Amino acid sequence: MTSPIVRFAPSPTGRIHIGNARVALFNYLFSATHHGRFILRFDDTDLARSTEEFARGVEVDLAWLGIVPHETFRQSQRVALYETAAVKLREAGRLYPCYETPEELEKRRKMQQARGLPPVYDRAALKLSDADRSRLEASGRRPHWRFKLEHGVVEWNDLIRGPARIDCAALSDPVLIREDGSFLYTLPSVTDDIDMKVTHVIRGEDHVTNTAVQLQLFAALAPQAARPAFAHHNLLIGASGEGLSKRTGSLSIASLRDEGYEAMAVAALATLTGSSDNVHAVRSLEDLGASFDLAHVSRNPARFDPEDLSTLTHRTLALFEFEDVRERLAALDVVGHKAEPLWRAARGNLWTFDDILKWWRVIEGEIEPAHEDPAFLKEAAQLLPQEPWDESTWSAWTSDLKTGTGRKGKALFHPLRLALTGETSGPELAALLPLIGRAKALARLVG
Ligand code: GLU
Repeated sequence: MTSPIVRFAPSPTGRIHIGNARVALFNYLFSATHHGRFILRFDDTDLARSTEEFARGVEVDLAWLGIVPHETFRQSQRVALYETAAVKLREAGRLYPCYETPEELEKRRKMQQARGLPPVYDRAALKLSDADRSRLEASGRRPHWRFKLEHGVVEWNDLIRGPARIDCAALSDPVLIREDGSFLYTLPSVTDDIDMKVTHVIRGEDHVTNTAVQLQLFAALAPQAARPAFAHHNLLIGASGEGLSKRTGSLSIASLRDEGYEAMAVAALATLTGSSDNVHAVRSLEDLGASFDLAHVSRNPARFDPEDLSTLTHRTLALFEFEDVRERLAALDVVGHKAEPLWRAARGNLWTFDDILKWWRVIEGEIEPAHEDPAFLKEAAQLLPQEPWDESTWSAWTSDLKTGTGRKGKALFHPLRLALTGETSGPELAALLPLIGRAKALARLVG
């Protein structure tokens, strides 16, 4: 395959949620694994609902997931291109003015339904004479513009769904331009896909019907250009089958981040749910990309449970090497020669990244030691080896204690852990003890 060019085209009318992240990730992983380009294209022709703040929010959320676009476009700045495309369609007789009000259209739809007919636009506007149109305009009506579909079957080989066919005779001619002259999503999308030489359109299966329309637009606007390949993936749905809307605040990427879930956990869940690959933790998008294949995506709904993010975050953290988190640790002031050994000791015990602070306090700060068995702890303090300490100190010390006190197992280890860390469980003490150091350990034992 020559280098693919893909695009992620969100409308900046809200923060993106995990379902939008799925689309972005599919596109990103596909392009990255084929050495292609990823375009971020803001679908912001709806000026009333799009904001610059939401657009920036999308960029922040993508960056958090590890996605940095090669290029970013705003459709609101490309309107001249869409005007030119509209002229071309008008000249070819494929774009026609309509004057019906929403109420009139609704009334017609109801009548069609009552007669058992499909609610397809009847093309009444095509029968208007010049005089009719002048009269309507004189009465203050402004036209909206519809694309005249060719009545035939449109076919494509969907990279996820296999052979797809849509009978366009069953579709209404889509409105491309609103009464106020603004463009709906369809024409800008195709115009840009042509202009940006998009090779693969990867998006949710809610766009399958749009694809038939858009393929007709591709043919009308650029009959010579290669049309992109299409892949429509299943949509994420909640555990009880409910769909995700952009306003499902709790599943927005921003709120998942604020709750302490790891980006790679969110990315793994968003990508692997509803595919033949098991949902598993990954260290990086590169790792996630290694097994990514559109052919693995299932045609069944992608049912997911946000609760899985806790375990996935826990497992993700355990996969990180120190170099993966060095900067994030430094931002928490976890720095110096103990930062790396602490990370290695504690990474398997974290439920959120910030949990590392608890273990940092154990080795560097003050804790509330718990003394369950003062007599035993006193003996333990007496047998505490002299420094220098390393990872073998713990076993040398506890085997002396075992011999000295006859204790073993939980009775031996539990009071020590509690006194040294203030916790009943946690990272290996063999790794923690040399980081705590003799002075602190002694003080905690006899505290
Ligand atoms: N703004 C559209 C959406 O988010 C873009 C669809 C497309 O990828 O063409 O659903």
